Amino acid sequence: MCSPQKSGMNALSMRMVTRSGSRCPGAGPRRHGEDPAPLQKGEAVAEGKQSHRPVKHQRKARRLCVAYEASDGEKDKRAEPLKEPVWEPQDWQQQLANIRTMRSRKDAPVDQLGAEHCYDPSASPKVRRYQVLLSLMLSSQTKDQVTAGAMQRLRARGLTVDNILQTDDSMLGQLIYPVGFWRNKVKYIKQTSAILQQRYGGDIPASVAELVALPGVGPKMAHLAMAVAWGTVSGIAVDTHVHRIANRLGWTRRATKSPEETRAALEAWLPRELWSEINGLLVGFGQQTCQPVHPRCGACLNQALCPAAQGL
Ligand code: SF4
Repeated sequence: MCSPQKSGMNALSMRMVTRSGSRCPGAGPRRHGEDPAPLQKGEAVAEGKQSHRPVKHQRKARRLCVAYEASDGEKDKRAEPLKEPVWEPQDWQQQLANIRTMRSRKDAPVDQLGAEHCYDPSASPKVRRYQVLLSLMLSSQTKDQVTAGAMQRLRARGLTVDNILQTDDSMLGQLIYPVGFWRNKVKYIKQTSAILQQRYGGDIPASVAELVALPGVGPKMAHLAMAVAWGTVSGIAVDTHVHRIANRLGWTRRATKSPEETRAALEAWLPRELWSEINGLLVGFGQQTCQPVHPRCGACLNQALCPAAQGL
């Protein structure tokens, strides 16, 4: 029979429960002669005669089990998995503040010619979203100035899904030349436009998974399309500038080999409220200061905090 009692030693954090006369967990199987059932009167006499010894009334030691039940508060604490402290680069806040200072004039090419500046603001929302996606597809491996020129020529003819599908490939190639890989892009733009017309009513899909399923659309474009076209922060858009600078500044726990690896490494520690800012900030910084070849470390406010500065 269980009889709960309060322990004066630790009454606040736990309840002590005593169990007597019952089997305790871990007490093992009942042994012969242990805690027998009470004998009936006749049986006791017979047993005494059989052993030729007087029947002694022995005091049986009653087993007392003490178990502790955790209080609700303790149970909650125990249920929580141990959290590993989140790794973050040592000086990232100062490095970020320095980059913001260096970028305060907002006069890098990306500030005037990025995807958010290439669409026709007077077009319908659906057409604007299509134009954002097109400018992102054109921009890969291409300078912002070249992308902006191609977008101007396309817009002058009316940049809609229907118009692109009615334009033959050679004309489309002439309009977008000299963007990088323009022949492949003609093919991808036609294929993607056909899918948008058939499956999305001429609009662009509103998820990263559906966007990256379109021909010629990669993860960086998908995250930027989500941000610029749909106003949703779905992840950090990492291109070659962001990939390079994150590694130079030590913003990845270990060296990363691809923009996708860098995206995962940054998203593991960078506060989410900074995700939408980081692409434009670092792309412009990469265009003006932390360039791929011959970065201008002497003019960089992060020189003393940059692990890569000594080796460049
Ligand atoms: S010190 Fe040099 S390598 Fe480091 S962030 Fe500045 S420009 Fe880039």
